[in-house]
Amino acid sequence: MKSWSIRLGKLFGIDVFIHWSFWLLIIWIVYLQFSGGGGFFEALWASGFVFALFACVVFHELGHALMARRFGIGTKDITLYPIGGVASLEKMPDEPGREFLVAVSGPSVNLVIAALLWAYFSVTGSFPDPAMLESAERISDVPFLFTLFTANLIVAAFNLIPAFPMDGGRALRALLSTFLDRGLATRVAASVGQIIAIVFIFLGFYYNPWLILIGLFVFLGAGVESAGERTKSELSGLTVNDALMKRFTGLSPFDTLSTAVDALLNSQETDFVVLDNDEPIGLLTRNEIIKGLSEKGPEARVSSYMNRDFFVVGPDLKLADFLQEVVAHDSDVALVMQDGELVGLINRENVEERLMVQRALKQ
Ligand SMILES: [Zn+2]
Repeated sequence: MKSWSIRLGKLFGIDVFIHWSFWLLIIWIVYLQFSGGGGFFEALWASGFVFALFACVVFHELGHALMARRFGIGTKDITLYPIGGVASLEKMPDEPGREFLVAVSGPSVNLVIAALLWAYFSVTGSFPDPAMLESAERISDVPFLFTLFTANLIVAAFNLIPAFPMDGGRALRALLSTFLDRGLATRVAASVGQIIAIVFIFLGFYYNPWLILIGLFVFLGAGVESAGERTKSELSGLTVNDALMKRFTGLSPFDTLSTAVDALLNSQETDFVVLDNDEPIGLLTRNEIIKGLSEKGPEARVSSYMNRDFFVVGPDLKLADFLQEVVAHDSDVALVMQDGELVGLINRENVEERLMVQRALKQ
């Protein structure tokens, strides 16, 4: 379940969600039509167009997801936001050729849609007359499918800008990493992206303020991408064993939540293993403790709120892979087991602490 989103359905086994903020876009579009002198018909036309365009965006995201699936990478879901869609891939492929294919398959879908519409116009002889386009005052003056055709071309072009976090940025990084080390390729691609972003911001002041917004978005995205890549290279060589918590508090399934609260408040720990005869049977996180307290009070049993569906990793798992598992399992914490024995707990914070130590040692 995803908060603040409505599930639209499943396509190719992937859940498609629509985020609440998407409706703000529809409200805004409707408002624009009415305030611009258009009536109900214009508003309906414009919102219909947004839905059609976002259907194309879903196909764009499916393009990424299905290509990733060919390389054995799953996709948790696809969510539509007002600025576009996001396919939550479990990870990006490390191999440059595959990363390139996953990145370009999204925009390719929009190009294919545009080509199909072009073919339709040609076959039916309904290609719009450029003069009519220039004289159009309202959105409904231009044929619906022609607006959709143009929009798909814009979506493809926009996503192919060679700058993070656009698909084009990832494609560029993939191309560069065929002959550069991945960290360097990321830095070069991020710098190219930031230069493009600055040009956009500069042009925005003269032509269109939207360019300023896009420029800022790209500039920040490039920063995030190179920071992420830096973390990845710092983590290489480290395993779960380097970051796990060997000292942890175990709870019994028959303990009350007030015992769990004591453990929570008297230590730095936020996640507790629930043990039955030394056998881990569940995991109780801070969120579950708080939820239980508000629903049933301090006398509720640990067993009614623990998570039985916890995930387990081995001490030799690479920390970078652990972070990917965290995303895939939608859980911040894992039990560390070796030869059937519980040896500790590990969460995202432990990894961050290990990184801080690593950076301090380097200086
Ligand atoms: Zn894309």
